[in-house]
Amino acid sequence: MTADERWVRELDARQRAMLAEMGVKLWLPKPRPAAAAATAAEPEPPAALAVAEPAPPAPAPVRAPVAAPVAVPVPAPVAAPAAVAMRADIATLDWPALREAVAGCRACGLCESRRNTVFGVGHTQADWMIVGEAPGENEDRQGEPFVGAAGQLLDAMLRACGRSRTSDEAARSVYIANVLKCRPPANRNPAPEEVLRCEPYLARQVALVKPRLIIAMGRFAVQSLLKTTEPIGRLRGRVHHYEGVPVIVTYHPAYLLRTPIDKAKAWADLCMAMAQ
Ligand code: URA
Repeated sequence: MTADERWVRELDARQRAMLAEMGVKLWLPKPRPAAAAATAAEPEPPAALAVAEPAPPAPAPVRAPVAAPVAVPVPAPVAAPAAVAMRADIATLDWPALREAVAGCRACGLCESRRNTVFGVGHTQADWMIVGEAPGENEDRQGEPFVGAAGQLLDAMLRACGRSRTSDEAARSVYIANVLKCRPPANRNPAPEEVLRCEPYLARQVALVKPRLIIAMGRFAVQSLLKTTEPIGRLRGRVHHYEGVPVIVTYHPAYLLRTPIDKAKAWADLCMAMAQ
């Protein structure tokens, strides 16, 4: 039996249910008849874990949170004095004032093309905070983070952990926010200057929510919170910290839609989150 097969066989009912929620389908190779098994020429059975995910319906172009191959320190764009002052002001705002500041923000060029700012959603005292990248087309239309295909997967992942963005119980809820509050045109990657200008809003959201745990999804969330360009694959599997709050690093749901085989790793990351 291969290690993958043993892993699948040892999953209990709850773990199987969680994987099913995330769209991870498990199968084991059929036992081979004794005679066939004895035939040395037969190829090895395929890996035990397979993910049969229907291709997502013609998605709008999705930013590719593909990790950079080499870790280099994230260059810190130098903030102009006005930006420094803005950062200090934002750090004092309460929820309504912060929401209003985001709604009226003109700190970078994204304000010209946005339909709506996308502030954040969920329980403001949630003990988990999810940090994504930036609004896409659907989010820009609706003013809420993660409402498109990636959002549906995120909701399924959260459900698998017994959590949701709508729960009114802190221990069963999440607060979801993005690094950028405005959509980059045509879903291009966030620019360093845009991240810099928007960072104080996310920092204030974290300070107000005071989560017990942050889950950073995708490379822009990771770069913004942890100030590293180390690939996600190398950051997964251990606990990092942002302003004293434990941070678990995992793949972005949009990446998982394109690379469903990595859903099993994302599930392992969620298990680690649940163990904190
Ligand atoms: N991707 C993100 O990172 N955030 C969203 O809100 C939607 C898609």
